[in-house]
Amino acid sequence: MDNINFVTDRDPHEKEFHQAVTEVIESVMPVLDQNPLYRNENIMQRIVEPERVIMFRVPWMDDQKQVQVNRGFRIEMNSAIGPYKGGLRFHPSVNLSILKFLAFEQVFKNALTSLPMGGGKGGSDFDPKGKSDTEVMRFCQSFMAELFRHIGPNTDVPAGDIGVGAREIGYLFGMYKKLANEFTGVLTGKSLNWGGSLIRPEATGYGSVYFASEMLATRGENLEGKRCLVSGSGNVAQYTMEKLLDLGATPITFSDSSGYIYDEEGVDREKLEHIMYLKNVMRGRVSEYVETYPDAVFVPVDHELDHNPMWKEHKAQCAFPSATQNEINGKDAQHLIDNGVYVVCEGANMPTVHEGIEIFVDNKILYGPGKAANAGGVSVSGLEMSQNSMRLNWPKDEVDNRLKHIMKNIHRMCMDTAEQYGEPGNYVAGANIAGFVKVVDSMIDQGV
Ligand code: GLU
Repeated sequence: MDNINFVTDRDPHEKEFHQAVTEVIESVMPVLDQNPLYRNENIMQRIVEPERVIMFRVPWMDDQKQVQVNRGFRIEMNSAIGPYKGGLRFHPSVNLSILKFLAFEQVFKNALTSLPMGGGKGGSDFDPKGKSDTEVMRFCQSFMAELFRHIGPNTDVPAGDIGVGAREIGYLFGMYKKLANEFTGVLTGKSLNWGGSLIRPEATGYGSVYFASEMLATRGENLEGKRCLVSGSGNVAQYTMEKLLDLGATPITFSDSSGYIYDEEGVDREKLEHIMYLKNVMRGRVSEYVETYPDAVFVPVDHELDHNPMWKEHKAQCAFPSATQNEINGKDAQHLIDNGVYVVCEGANMPTVHEGIEIFVDNKILYGPGKAANAGGVSVSGLEMSQNSMRLNWPKDEVDNRLKHIMKNIHRMCMDTAEQYGEPGNYVAGANIAGFVKVVDSMIDQGV
């Protein structure tokens, strides 16, 4: 099995899923070669097949009293090391391929956290953009009316992802509670007043910056004074910028689907607060930033271009892709390197296409793939589950210290595993192999 025909033949249209599977198979080939048991167990064929896929109709009524219909999904990918765990994404691009790739990534990511969590992902093609709060509420209630029978604090624990933040988790939790008649830790990312964890909103962004610091430390360096390209402007990008500022670095870009902002002076704390207000309170666009800070420029997305100027035009040392999948192609990756970037740390899931990953790895830059670098979010979700089970709340410092410790541990695990398999400094190989071995060994222990 040296190619992924067994996946492409079965589901020929799932290109994002194929992309994620190809990357893992390439990395774990040496492991499969050294362990005939894995081949006897047909482990690759087993691990790419979700344990369960749930697809359902989500009808809801808009403010004009028209009935709308969306499609809901939950992929229960792998429960070898714990209950299914992973976010819900509400975005018009959501389909089976995207959710299967995300669920597949989540399995390995969750294994790296050292917490007992299997992998899952779900969501809908519903677009929260431009919808009123009551429309979002009615949608979430209808979504949960079906999902609730498939999830539970020891079965499957969803959380947020793109398009699903504190507001949506609130509406989803409210509906779950009505239907199941119990108050449990069935979702993570809850608000503090009703079972949430401190540091959960910050966790993915903070964790990504902690991971970058660990990578830099291997070269005796730190983030102080580094100019950083950040993409995205949602939860992950916001707290990435906050932690970068804490550590003396300077974020100079951020973006949304319509384009990006370049702020030569750098985003400082006051500007970041404004971004948070624009995005989280006003639910606005990044282009509005230049109305308050006219020295910054807004560059609209040009779909004719075969590259993104954000990765090409601005000198920097670090890049934190924190938006969505496939936003760095081969050309972009080369531009980043030509531009002096030698740290790429992925806050998003699979933001770099296969060719781009090869360029980063061949150039031996410090490249932290998403499943390692952005594992901080789901890690603090795991800590939220622990706190819920114990019926107590840990203080901020305790959660943050645990997060730091987990990110350090993931970094070390990636380094050690890469070294062991003859690929020193290759975090892609390290993350894929370490996550894979833990999951497949658990599957084998538990029988066919
Ligand atoms: N959606 C996040 C991720 O991609 C967090 C998942 C969670 O907290 O369960 O890892």
